Amino acid sequence: MAVQTAESTTTPDAPAPAGAVDLGPAAALSCRECDHRVPLGPVFACEECFGPLEIAYDFSAYDTEELRARIEAGPANIWRYAPLLPVPADVADKPNINPGWTKLVKADNLARELGVTGGLYVKDDSGNPTHSFKDRVVAQAIEAARAFGFTTLSCSSTGNLAGAVGAAAARAGFRSCVFIPHDLEQGKVVMAAVYGGELVGIQGNYDDVNRFCSELIGDPAGEGWGFVNVNLRPYYAEGSKTLAYEICEQLGWRLPDQIVVPIASGSQLTKIDKGLQELIRLGLVEDKPYRIFGAQAEGCSPVSTAYKAGHDVVRPQKPDTIAKSLAIGNPADGPYVLDIARRTGGAVEDVSDEQVVDAIKLLARTEGIFAETAGGVTVGVTKKLIENGVLDPSLTTVVLNTGDGLKTLDAVAGTGLTATIRPNLDSFREAGLA
Ligand SMILES: *Cc1c(COP(=O)(O)O)cnc(C)c1O
Ligand SMILES: [Zn+2]
Repeated sequence: MAVQTAESTTTPDAPAPAGAVDLGPAAALSCRECDHRVPLGPVFACEECFGPLEIAYDFSAYDTEELRARIEAGPANIWRYAPLLPVPADVADKPNINPGWTKLVKADNLARELGVTGGLYVKDDSGNPTHSFKDRVVAQAIEAARAFGFTTLSCSSTGNLAGAVGAAAARAGFRSCVFIPHDLEQGKVVMAAVYGGELVGIQGNYDDVNRFCSELIGDPAGEGWGFVNVNLRPYYAEGSKTLAYEICEQLGWRLPDQIVVPIASGSQLTKIDKGLQELIRLGLVEDKPYRIFGAQAEGCSPVSTAYKAGHDVVRPQKPDTIAKSLAIGNPADGPYVLDIARRTGGAVEDVSDEQVVDAIKLLARTEGIFAETAGGVTVGVTKKLIENGVLDPSLTTVVLNTGDGLKTLDAVAGTGLTATIRPNLDSFREAGLA
């Protein structure tokens, strides 16, 4: 196992001294903007430049084929990749909801409809324990919360995160108190509340909820609280790397050519790129070009708007879309998403709510996968990018479905009974069903 190699750049008020926490190969926190390093702790912004901190690893001890064999022999969940994550080596033995290793569905019917000839796959993360990709990120944050001695887990959420935190906290024995916009879909509210934690609706949109949480962190009332997507964000974010790892392993340790990823804060997209880069550097996949495409809903499209305008900065928007899980008007990782889309030869695109609904139905009709609105966004954007000649249909393409349609039933509320008949054959024939 790799040793901790955090440098002694410790400042007097730094949270945990280097070496005091065991988070496996995680060596330190490193600033994405200026490379300033600090020891692992519950901090998320650089003290030098306010840039975002992310995990720096020591992978130097790994032999490629030993690592591959170890992963392949691991459990059928994200912990098969524990050697590449900020978690202790014995993570799989702790109480955890063990997300991941979701299906990579070869979507031949959808491919035919969209004219994709190079192989089309849907990575279906509705199969996670709380039916969204958020279980992956929360699982990392829980380990960091244990390591730093937090007793309450919290978050600002557009819905799915609240459920993931509630479930993980219940199983791991933490108190949870989570914050959501007051007007979310009933499916998401119930799903977040059922695990018995505290669920607070805030009168405002997600960006208001997020601002409130930042205030709470600085207040004595928030002491001992681990906010999975704020003060534990560097750890939380790493969970999205597992999507990249799984996709490549499920393709037979091969990089896909194109990936279509939904954008809320942009964290998932940036960490999928980080995961792919790590696999290349570790020699687990052959290096070749890949393109990452970002997908947004028109009613909350700050990143695609900036992309299309050729801007490097993302101007905040006020969200108005049925894709509520992606409705972040001021996405923290927006500029990094722009970098990645441009560097890899991808793009960022958006679709209307009507196109989102059509795409949900298209995926359901062709592949038997019922996606939440975020999945409608990625499938809809994939279709649009093919029609516009931006996405190459002759290349291997992976589209993410990050959530379950049962949580956003309102989006397809017009869908229902074909007919209502009396319980006899005449009635069946009369209805034209014979
Ligand atoms: C949170 C979420 C995402 C992506 O979120 P990022 O903030 O961009 O990492 C995607 N899909 C669903 C369903 C989500 O809940
Ligand atoms: Zn910095």
